[in-house]
Amino acid sequence: MVRPKRENRSKFFRVKCPDCENEQIIFEKASTIVDCVVCGRVLAEPSGGKITLKAEKLAELS
Ligand SMILES: [Zn+2]
Repeated sequence: MVRPKRENRSKFFRVKCPDCENEQIIFEKASTIVDCVVCGRVLAEPSGGKITLKAEKLAELS
Protein backbone atom coordinates (compact mmCIF):
# COMPACT_ATOMS: atom_id res chain seq x y z
CA MET A 1 0.00 0.00 0.00
CA VAL A 2 1.40 3.36 -1.03
CA ARG A 3 0.88 6.30 1.26
CA PRO A 4 0.98 9.92 0.10
CA LYS A 5 4.27 11.64 0.82
CA ARG A 6 4.14 13.87 3.84
CA GLU A 7 6.49 16.51 2.46
CA ASN A 8 3.93 17.42 -0.18
CA ARG A 9 1.54 18.72 2.41
CA SER A 10 1.18 22.44 2.64
CA LYS A 11 1.75 24.36 5.80
CA PHE A 12 -0.21 26.87 7.73
CA PHE A 13 1.36 29.70 9.67
CA ARG A 14 0.06 31.09 12.90
CA VAL A 15 0.84 34.79 12.94
CA LYS A 16 0.22 37.72 15.22
CA CYS A 17 -0.97 41.04 13.89
CA PRO A 18 1.57 43.74 14.84
CA ASP A 19 -1.17 46.32 15.24
CA CYS A 20 -3.87 44.64 17.31
CA GLU A 21 -2.14 41.39 18.43
CA ASN A 22 -4.88 39.25 16.96
CA GLU A 23 -3.62 35.73 16.25
CA GLN A 24 -4.63 34.25 12.95
CA ILE A 25 -3.93 31.14 10.88
CA ILE A 26 -2.70 31.78 7.33
CA PHE A 27 -2.35 29.25 4.53
CA GLU A 28 1.18 29.06 3.12
CA LYS A 29 -0.04 29.10 -0.47
CA ALA A 30 -2.77 31.69 -0.23
CA SER A 31 -3.33 33.31 -3.63
CA THR A 32 -4.74 36.57 -2.35
CA ILE A 33 -3.67 39.14 0.20
CA VAL A 34 -4.53 38.08 3.74
CA ASP A 35 -5.87 40.78 6.00
CA CYS A 36 -6.20 40.80 9.76
CA VAL A 37 -9.82 39.91 10.50
CA VAL A 38 -9.89 42.40 13.37
CA CYS A 39 -8.21 45.57 12.11
CA GLY A 40 -7.71 44.95 8.38
CA ARG A 41 -3.93 45.24 8.34
CA VAL A 42 -2.20 43.18 5.62
CA LEU A 43 -0.66 40.10 7.23
CA ALA A 44 0.60 38.32 4.12
CA GLU A 45 0.92 38.85 0.39
CA PRO A 46 1.06 36.20 -2.35
CA SER A 47 4.52 35.83 -3.88
CA GLY A 48 5.42 33.25 -6.49
CA GLY A 49 3.17 30.48 -5.23
CA LYS A 50 3.88 31.09 -1.57
CA ILE A 51 3.14 33.99 0.70
CA THR A 52 5.36 36.71 2.09
CA LEU A 53 4.54 37.31 5.71
CA LYS A 54 4.02 40.86 6.90
CA ALA A 55 3.36 39.87 10.48
CA GLU A 56 5.19 38.04 13.22
CA LYS A 57 5.21 34.26 12.72
CA LEU A 58 4.43 32.41 15.91
CA ALA A 59 4.36 28.85 14.64
CA GLU A 60 4.23 26.61 11.61
CA LEU A 61 1.44 24.08 11.44
CA SER A 62 1.28 21.18 9.04
ZN1 LIG B 1 -4.97 43.38 13.48
